[in-house]
Amino acid sequence: MDGKTVVIVGAGITGVSAAEWMRRDGWAVTLVDPIHPGDPGQTSYGNAGLIARTSVMPVATPSLVRKAPMMALDPDAPLFLRWRYLPRLMPWLIPFLRNATPDRIRTISGALGQMTFDATDQHLALARGTKAEAFICFGDYISLFRSRADYDHDTLGHEIRTRFDLVPEPLTREQLVERDPNLGPDYTFGTLSRDFGWFSSPAGYVQALFDDYHSQGGGFRQARVAGISPGEMPVVTLEDGETLTADKVVLSSGAWSRRFAATMGLNMPLEAERGYHVAMENPSFTAPHPYMVTDSKFVMTPMQGALRAAGVVEFSGVDGPETTAPAQMIAGAVKRVYPGLTFETSKTWMGRRPTTPDSLPALGEAPGAPNVLHAYGGQHVGMTIGPKLGRLVAELAARRTPNIDLTPYRPDRF
Ligand SMILES: Cc1cc2nc3c(=O)[nH]c(=O)nc-3n(C[C@H](O)[C@H](O)[C@H](O)COP(=O)(O)OP(=O)(O)OC[C@H]3O[C@@H](n4cnc5c(N)ncnc54)[C@H](O)[C@@H]3O)c2cc1C
Repeated sequence: MDGKTVVIVGAGITGVSAAEWMRRDGWAVTLVDPIHPGDPGQTSYGNAGLIARTSVMPVATPSLVRKAPMMALDPDAPLFLRWRYLPRLMPWLIPFLRNATPDRIRTISGALGQMTFDATDQHLALARGTKAEAFICFGDYISLFRSRADYDHDTLGHEIRTRFDLVPEPLTREQLVERDPNLGPDYTFGTLSRDFGWFSSPAGYVQALFDDYHSQGGGFRQARVAGISPGEMPVVTLEDGETLTADKVVLSSGAWSRRFAATMGLNMPLEAERGYHVAMENPSFTAPHPYMVTDSKFVMTPMQGALRAAGVVEFSGVDGPETTAPAQMIAGAVKRVYPGLTFETSKTWMGRRPTTPDSLPALGEAPGAPNVLHAYGGQHVGMTIGPKLGRLVAELAARRTPNIDLTPYRPDRF
């Protein structure tokens, strides 16, 4: 692709991955973002850092839909809604609810599994030999349940995990405590997945990937994109009016992508599924590996200098103000997992998961908007699938046929 140019809008894990794969392919790449890769303003900064290679379940499930109305009213539940935002949530919420049927979930899980199953290898293909590699940790991953019945209750999840050969090993309370004596008494059952990957610092990882790309000649413009015009030679307009013309444009601005899609005539009901983290710095002890705390819907991950608890869902729009209740809920729930934990300081953070109604990313060109490639919608697994999305973008841009069926991810499917 020597001599060909691409402008990539948004430099989170997806944009940086696409930039590096296209640079390796010989494109002259300009990555554009008003903030630097690894900045707290990115969702890629503050996530739980899991390489969630076993995640095949979409966000919308019948049990979530049943519980959601009560959860939104309960301040101790991991779902928060700014009620005034509800009318604006509808274009996303209605198709989201339609996807929460067993049949749709069976179909979606196949397409999601196609994205997640080789995630660890995809990360290594990008990071190997760079400083980013040192941020990848390997070990076990345990989901904590209050009771075995809570786990058994999820019959559809079990059916799907069986289909993909992803059934984890059960652990009794005794086995859990043998591995981690600090665990609080509420958790009496666990499930274990082995050979899991996570990041000791997701921000450090993204920044290291970017630094390597930049040091090899990859371009970066610190600027906010105001508009994208598709065409034979698509044009990206920056906020100050400057224009960048290229052979291809990649739209990878995460939860902020919807507005650009709309200006290109595309109905993309992308929602910012906001989440929070509490980072407990210099803790008195840390977790031996990541835990999914299933009753409170957050992940606790041992990271550099901190134990991070990250999760929950808040609907308040991409630009809505940060609130205090979700982080307070997480901090309270951490005390149930680790009653004896003390730490020097704690920091909270809010990020925006880019989530489509069917939990699948948008990937590829949309009809009527030539040479603009969509690449966003990683929802709860966006850190996991960012490198694969980036690699597939490079395949599509070079007009190579990827070895997977991309139909489920078509940007014009809504
Ligand atoms: C609490 C929480 C926990 C999570 N845990 C996990 C996990 O354990 N594992 C996992 O796989 N995923 C996890 N995720 C999801 C994951 O973090 C996201 O899906 C992923 O980071 C999205 O990456 P992205 O590159 O698409 O978007 P982002 O990282 O948000 O990057 C988008 C970029 O676009 C830029 N941008 C916006 N507007 C413009 C503009 N006008 N011009 C130019 N640039 C622009 C932004 O500045 C930003 O840098 C979690 C998310 C949250 C919130």
